Amino acid sequence: MLVEDGVVAAIGPDLAGSTVLSCEGCWVGPGFVDLHTHLREPGQEWKEDVASGSAAAAVGGYTAVMAMPNTDPAIDSVAVAELVRSLGDQAGLVEVRPAGAITAGRRGARLADLEGMLRAGVSWFTDDGDAVADPALVRNALEVLSQRGGVLAEHAEEPSLTAGAHMHEGSVSSLLGVKGMPASAESAIVARDILIAADTGARLHIQHLSTEAAVELVAAAKSRGIRVTAEVTPHHLALDHTELKEHAARFKMKPPLRRREDVEAVRGGLRDGTIDAVATDHAPHAPPEANRPLQDATFGVIGLETAAAVVNTAVELKPREFFDRLSVAPARLGGFTHHGHWTEKGVFANLAVFDPKKQWVPGSFVSRSSNSPFVGRPLRGKVRFTVYQGRVTHGFNPSVSGGGR
Ligand SMILES: [Zn+2]
Repeated sequence: MLVEDGVVAAIGPDLAGSTVLSCEGCWVGPGFVDLHTHLREPGQEWKEDVASGSAAAAVGGYTAVMAMPNTDPAIDSVAVAELVRSLGDQAGLVEVRPAGAITAGRRGARLADLEGMLRAGVSWFTDDGDAVADPALVRNALEVLSQRGGVLAEHAEEPSLTAGAHMHEGSVSSLLGVKGMPASAESAIVARDILIAADTGARLHIQHLSTEAAVELVAAAKSRGIRVTAEVTPHHLALDHTELKEHAARFKMKPPLRRREDVEAVRGGLRDGTIDAVATDHAPHAPPEANRPLQDATFGVIGLETAAAVVNTAVELKPREFFDRLSVAPARLGGFTHHGHWTEKGVFANLAVFDPKKQWVPGSFVSRSSNSPFVGRPLRGKVRFTVYQGRVTHGFNPSVSGGGR
């Protein structure tokens, strides 16, 4: 594959270039696209900022990310959306598209300036971190978005069922005597939103889907032609709630790690396409926040640098399915028009080179935070190179490799 002027110029034998990347044994495909990244800027730059998060994304094979709006201030206006987008351009390692908040300040009381943000090119709206609790606001937002092709992405969590809880409600929470979040806290919101979306004809996306019941609801809605899509995180594909018996805070996130049956259900959903995409929910928390005992710890884990490896370790996917779920589908859903195109002559050179057999153990991170549940855990598959706009953004060190071979 020959890359010139930011595009794939040729594919075939006997090509020559000034920099040569050896991709022996690797899968070469479109760079990964993350629909769910917390970059923490503005407001919590000690955990991550747009530049450090972009660098972590490049290490993970990503060429584009959707920045979640639960910043401080929230991305609920054109001004803050433009700020995050320009910080992404300055970092220059991945395309950063800001998602807009659905409600002003993410407070759930009234809609944010959806029309203004839509006109400014924002197409993905979420109050992530919280669900939109008021069904009338969900309906109003879907009506506005449906007119301009926007998507409502829902963090499906019924807050009255999860208040004061730290993990999944089940055998492990009973054993530990810790208050749990029932699976129905997720599926109740998924069901509610599917029914409202069906009334409006608008596009609904379910974020970090984690339960067997929610997989079944999405499958049923899709079979009826309702415009719903869904994502799953790498950690929900790989881990279950028994992890909390030992390691506590490192495994605390929303939605929580669920039962083995739920892990099997989300794996099956990803394989058969009920779940469209993998999304990291990369949620940096710096110590000491991340290292407290379970009851005091914050929710969330980082994921950009390990996502592809975790997916490859946990789920048996063919190369084409792998790149579809990590790149092609999320690019299509999120409106990343320069990303997620199958590699052929003429497409933008936004690429990931993935070695599916490489064994490694995560230890340190480019991210400013290190709250990963995969520290010390053997993974299979590693991103060897990332190419963004024709430039190598990860894996190429000319001083070491002498010509880059
Ligand atoms: Zn969320």
